[in-house]
Amino acid sequence: MDQKGYVMAGTSFLLLIPVILISVSLINFFQGENEMIDQSIHSEKVSFAAGDIKRNIPILARETMLNISLSLIDDNKTITNSTESIKTQLQLQINDLTATYNNQNMNVSCNVDSIETSPHDPFLIEFDFTLNLKTENLKHEEKLSRLVSIEGMPDPLPFLKCRPYGSINHDNVRISYGTSLSSYLESKNIDNSSYYENASSPFIIKKCPYEPYQSHGSNETMKNCQSNGFYHYSNDGSCYLCRLESKETCEHFGLEVFLQPVPVSNSNYSIIINGPCSSDHVIFGIESYMGHSLAYDIKNETVYFLFLDEGHGVKYGIN
Ligand SMILES: [Zn+2]
Ligand SMILES: [Zn+2]
Repeated sequence: MDQKGYVMAGTSFLLLIPVILISVSLINFFQGENEMIDQSIHSEKVSFAAGDIKRNIPILARETMLNISLSLIDDNKTITNSTESIKTQLQLQINDLTATYNNQNMNVSCNVDSIETSPHDPFLIEFDFTLNLKTENLKHEEKLSRLVSIEGMPDPLPFLKCRPYGSINHDNVRISYGTSLSSYLESKNIDNSSYYENASSPFIIKKCPYEPYQSHGSNETMKNCQSNGFYHYSNDGSCYLCRLESKETCEHFGLEVFLQPVPVSNSNYSIIINGPCSSDHVIFGIESYMGHSLAYDIKNETVYFLFLDEGHGVKYGIN
């Protein structure tokens, strides 16, 4: 090799250096890209899991409340701590759901922290959760709060109160008390209990749309409210979670519904003056009190009526 040859070889080598450097950095770049793709696959999985769990939580929460309520109504069960019962059953459901994600290099858990009636709206139950998601290189914790409506759910309170006094049934729309309610009232030495023989009340909770409530002073409105079986806001009536525990009143913002005495003929109605107040928290209360009869509809000589005391009269616009 002559002198020129060495120079060429040296130059070639020098020329090769940037090529080597570029190659190395390209290798690094592709490796980095692979890591990024890996991470984004993981985070896609994580966000899919998180989304799926968040979507399913309110559905599972409502299902759990419904199952418990139906077990009280149809299977004669009782519970003493509704939030604990719901929490335990719901946690099992959620564990089943999160378990489906725990085999894909991911660890998912969701804990039911608390359950309470919304202080702003007794038709809503607030569920609080903590969601945890872990992968090799990602850790995510999130506090969640979901409001679940109780509209469309059955009311267990009448069954829990009246069952010891006789048979009480429902057809998924209304509750038929038979003689159970009148016997229950009689056992408390309440006058005129017999007006509630064969009484009925709504089975399903539906929020009354007639607001302000004073508008019930119109017979037409009261008739529509009663025939639809609407529930009302009430500071005295119990919330749904306490109804599951057979409580007719509680410290939470609650609900009220009217129990409907069986309609009577015109001539029979003319002798009815007062009877146990038809509001459910009064009827099922420790100290039931009387109300005045209020006829809100007359159809074919049949009178539809309620008993309302002065306080409820004022609330619902009845003078
Ligand atoms: Zn109403
Ligand atoms: Zn309550």
